[in-house]
Amino acid sequence: MTLFGVEHVLPRDQETDALAGTELREQATKAIDALSAAVGEDPQTLHGRVLKLLNLPRFSDADDHDLREILRELRICEREGRRAYRARLRRVTRVDRPAGIGRLPRPRWVKAASTAGSCGLCGDGYGPGDMVGRTPWEEGIPYVPMGWLCWHCLVHRRQHPRRRDVLLRFFHAMFAGDGIGLNGHECGVLLDWLTEEPALSSSKPWTADPLENTLVRLRAGATDGKPTTWLSTQTVHTIVAVLQEASASPATTVKDVQVLAAVVQHLAEWATNPADLKPSRYGTGWRFRQQTLASTGHPTVLSQCGGPFFLYQCKITKTGQLVEP
Ligand SMILES: [Zn+2]
Repeated sequence: MTLFGVEHVLPRDQETDALAGTELREQATKAIDALSAAVGEDPQTLHGRVLKLLNLPRFSDADDHDLREILRELRICEREGRRAYRARLRRVTRVDRPAGIGRLPRPRWVKAASTAGSCGLCGDGYGPGDMVGRTPWEEGIPYVPMGWLCWHCLVHRRQHPRRRDVLLRFFHAMFAGDGIGLNGHECGVLLDWLTEEPALSSSKPWTADPLENTLVRLRAGATDGKPTTWLSTQTVHTIVAVLQEASASPATTVKDVQVLAAVVQHLAEWATNPADLKPSRYGTGWRFRQQTLASTGHPTVLSQCGGPFFLYQCKITKTGQLVEP
């Protein structure tokens, strides 16, 4: 029995993690009511606190990622007692975001992680107490919401991109069948990767589809700090094939290499349809790619995170001014 005697309605972590959809939502609603009884606060008021924390207009807008975290928070409130729960359920609003072309939309919800987990975009692990967050959900089909993101992916990935951040942009844009655009920072990272080893320009894929003009555009994008430099799908296929030929470099981390291998694998699966999915059921677009990813015989960090995700493009006015999100 706990301090408030509400043990039976607040399931343990393992039980919560197994729940999804309606069951999870019911469990979260019950837990709010139980905590309300335990702390002696009107259920409406406590529901209001939770909604404010979620930063959503309606409780029905919360998804499974939100609901699991809410349940964990309520469980911590249950443990910490009557005095701590208000502070615990208060929303953190401060997020220092970079300005200019590296800026991402303000997160919907940021918090110290209540438990260890992994980033819903890059797959990096985070520990309890690390700051994590959810992005606002505005984009339509085919994009799906990302889960809890590490602080880098939430705030800094376009200002200080890692090599794998550029690969993630390629992957999700091609997954959705959308345009592939890089900001100046991302152009610079890709340019360095493609040019640090002169031998790459005589590799087979480069010779078949020369990248010299692309390098000129990437350099201009990086030097002028352009909001978006668009690349064709064909060019991205060539870039990925060329990068595969690159030797180990101190600038390329083990995780960069893993993501590159995963991108290569899934691009190949989308081309060869190893699960033999029927076009009559899944078509040939993003639904097919989503199902192919979900049914891969060799799960990767990308297939575990799913998608496609909208990774944000800079918005420009008709007169060429950057609109900061
Ligand atoms: Zn991340």
